Amino acid sequence: MTDTKAAFTLDDTFTSTEATALVNRLRATFRTGRTKPLAWRRQQLTRLRDLLTDNRAAIADALYADLRKNRAEADAMEINTTIVEIDDYLEHLEEWTAPQPATVTVPGVPGSTARTVFDPLGVALVISAWNYPVNLLLVPVAGALAAGNAVVIKPADYAAHTSALLAELLPAYLDTDATAVVEGGAPETTVLLEQHFDHIFYTGNGTVGRIVMTAAAKNLTPVVLELGGKSPVFVDRDADIATVAQRLAQTKFANAGQTCVAPDYVLTDPDTATELEAALVVALKGQFGEDPQTSDAYGRIINERHFDRLSALLDSGRTVTGGQTDRADTYIAPTVLAEVRPDEPVMQEEIFGPILPILTVADLDEAITFINERDKPLALYAFTEDNTTKRRLAAETSSGGLNFGLPMHHLAVPTLPFGGVGQSGMGNYHGRYSIETFSHRKAVLDVPLS
Ligand code: NAD
Repeated sequence: MTDTKAAFTLDDTFTSTEATALVNRLRATFRTGRTKPLAWRRQQLTRLRDLLTDNRAAIADALYADLRKNRAEADAMEINTTIVEIDDYLEHLEEWTAPQPATVTVPGVPGSTARTVFDPLGVALVISAWNYPVNLLLVPVAGALAAGNAVVIKPADYAAHTSALLAELLPAYLDTDATAVVEGGAPETTVLLEQHFDHIFYTGNGTVGRIVMTAAAKNLTPVVLELGGKSPVFVDRDADIATVAQRLAQTKFANAGQTCVAPDYVLTDPDTATELEAALVVALKGQFGEDPQTSDAYGRIINERHFDRLSALLDSGRTVTGGQTDRADTYIAPTVLAEVRPDEPVMQEEIFGPILPILTVADLDEAITFINERDKPLALYAFTEDNTTKRRLAAETSSGGLNFGLPMHHLAVPTLPFGGVGQSGMGNYHGRYSIETFSHRKAVLDVPLS
């Protein structure tokens, strides 16, 4: 019998029978009420935190092997960001899960009370993407646990070293009656998606997002889809260009551009574009030196499939800097392309790699039209000092998040919800928003009988 296994690794078979037994086992635990007390949730969150602090070096090694993430980036963007979320739950768990009193206006019987109660949903499935394979897996898992759920955890298969390490560590730290890890790719996830979950939290691309949502529909299971898209950057002519270039270099090229909220392309007027080209050359040199391939601070493309996909995008526009590739090392240099036209290959899909196209527009009106003619992005960025420009971008565009001045960092503010809209996803999480995502908001009205 395999139905008490807490981790299915790539060496195991994982059939529908095993998946059903696994979900039934976790649901049986959930029904005992074991996951609901705040003490259990607190204990699980603390154990998850211990996992991260006890195994910092091993996690950093796995991330290096998968993505050549340097130690500082692994610490800052994977481990510490997850710890910050966990600490936030530990600090606010009572407050965020407490029933919220409501004013009773109906039925108006004296002595009536009303409140909203956060009920855990049951057994959640969390499916992660490979680009931040620790954070994107464990932050939603922490949210599901904080909300009092049992969880099936599916790490990203492309980040194979990290997946294997987490499959080993998670059962050693978490309550294995209420959590389980299933490693694997499409076949294993397909088997999981045939099961009846109470929530599915998926991070990845929109094609698989549709598969997840279709499978969820069969059981009326709620989903959060954390997808991607082309996140534009508007650079106003009043912005300090050295600062813009430095912040774009810092964010766009982290993790070799493989970040869901990475700036995808720049929209600016022709004069500012010329200035920005030169400033980006300086900023990139400052960040990664003369030869980024030898820089410790620069990552690699996850695999050859993505390397080939990205290499085909390098011919668009005029190369300002970069363009060098090394397939054996899955290396693509930080690349800036200018005079890019909207119909060129690099503008047809989310880049998800270290290539930054600059497109010119006449003014803010044209930029807003350009943005609104395309799918709603996961993030919209603007560098401007002008409050009218900020107000107009906020009022006249739709995106998962809107960030002025420092791309990607809204993601690291746990008091903000993180998620997409339209083609960039649905639902959101982080901090108290994760509690809401993984709970049912139950309306309770209590009317006295006499
Ligand atoms: P991926 O290939 O790791 O896929 C994501 C998950 O889906 C993996 O766990 C994988 O095993 C599973 N999967 C793959 N094919 C499947 C199938 N046919 N059926 C069921 N499951 C399947 O990651 P990806 O999709 O290449 O990730 C990149 C995309 O994810 C980009 O669009 C990026 O913007 C987006 N993303 C979004 C966020 C966010 O938080 N919004 C974060 C990271 C990445």
